[in-house]
Amino acid sequence: MASRIVIVGGGLTGALAAVRLHEAGHAVSLHERREDPRRSTEHQGRSINLAFSTRGLDALDRVGLSETLREHGIPMRGRMLHGRDRSVTFQPYSADPANVLLSVSRDGLNAMLLDAVDERQIPTHFGQRLVDIELKASNAVFEVGQGRQSELFEVLIGADGAYSAVRNRLQRTDRFTYEQNYLEHGYKELTIPARADGSFAMEPHALHIWPRGGHMMIALPNPDGSFTCTLFWPFGGPVGFERVDTEREVNETFLDQFPDAVELMPHLTDEYLHHSTSSLVTIRCGPWFYEDRVVLLGDAAHAVVPFYGQGANAALEDVTIFIDLLAANDGAWGPTMASFYAQRKPDTDALADLALDNFVEMRDRVASPLFRLRVRAEQRVHRWAPRWITPLYEMVTFSRTPYVEAVARAKRQTALVERLMLALVALVLLVVVATIVLVVV
Ligand code: FAD
Repeated sequence: MASRIVIVGGGLTGALAAVRLHEAGHAVSLHERREDPRRSTEHQGRSINLAFSTRGLDALDRVGLSETLREHGIPMRGRMLHGRDRSVTFQPYSADPANVLLSVSRDGLNAMLLDAVDERQIPTHFGQRLVDIELKASNAVFEVGQGRQSELFEVLIGADGAYSAVRNRLQRTDRFTYEQNYLEHGYKELTIPARADGSFAMEPHALHIWPRGGHMMIALPNPDGSFTCTLFWPFGGPVGFERVDTEREVNETFLDQFPDAVELMPHLTDEYLHHSTSSLVTIRCGPWFYEDRVVLLGDAAHAVVPFYGQGANAALEDVTIFIDLLAANDGAWGPTMASFYAQRKPDTDALADLALDNFVEMRDRVASPLFRLRVRAEQRVHRWAPRWITPLYEMVTFSRTPYVEAVARAKRQTALVERLMLALVALVLLVVVATIVLVVV
């Protein structure tokens, strides 16, 4: 039976949910706080590129958009590591060259999804900020200009991001648990422009990383030949946003930390001093639903730090899982919301941990020769015996294996490899001892 659904948030999750629920036969309306982003040029120094992979592509495939995204995205085959001595080393993401990340603009993807909403003539309301939900009356209250407007709903979807107003309202219901953790690091976006002839100033088919132990910079390619760089620095400390705040300090610090990048960044000091610095938060909460009427999807339910390149992929995968469960429950909202939360919450908790751990991997471990050797060995063994060993990165990024299962399998694999290595060492020792005994006797 068709329900009257109000979706709060016209970002990636809200727009995709609007299309999927409309196609499932429901009467959907989409309400977004901002003005239509397709007509606005306001960026505040943030243009966020996404490393996009299998989970997100699969979700887009279900609304016929994955091919369009592939055409727009730039394939990144691996990590390009930049040393302080200007050395560069390439590490492929997978032994299978078909497994690539796509560098895509978040705004571009959002526009593509909003166009898909328009094509289906789903009513959209920009400039409407949710300010309250009267839960008993199933009434959503929006601020519109100077006034307020109410919208009755049968089901309300909270897809309004990490600082969700819907979640904020659920926090005032009984036994709602909420936890937010900020990193000591923040981020700032900078640019490496295209060369004068429009070509890329660095290898375009890679995600560039300048790992520096306690901090790092990364760069993702854009179709216009430029790279969007993201600087992940602590707020405090000698190499930190609070200390480095003059033209001279910016130049000196960058020349010391990222000498090969500085030459390619003609607007460095201007961008550094004028672009905003943003914080990085992990949000865990629950339950993600209220009775059979309100549910949280995407970042509103589980914001993670960006270091596994999975936030948007997981947010879009939420929509796939939710719609599948709705079909499996014959359109019954209560059981769908409850089973969605029960199934998905452990996975996104696991993803939150993976994302935090990957920050250390990206800024530190990737630079170690031992790490590189292990990655190469894992990829090689995976190629020979894919049923025995699949690297964790591969399961998370290039499959839809639930995150919890991927982590558990990776742990089993590590234990197996360690046992094999021990057995190998024991065998070598045995051979050495046997040889000595034979020679002596
Ligand atoms: P959002 O994109 O936050 O959208 C929420 C929408 O709701 C917004 O349009 C907002 O304006 C609207 N809204 C908010 N409040 C209200 C209100 N009260 N009323 C009405 N509307 C409201 N993910 C990846 O998969 N790969 C990456 O490489 C990657 N890199 C990232 C890099 C950075 C620096 C950051 C910050 C994030 C990155 N992410 C990445 C994560 C990704 O951007 C998010 O997971 C994704 O945008 C979540 O989509 P969403 O629609 O749930 O939330």
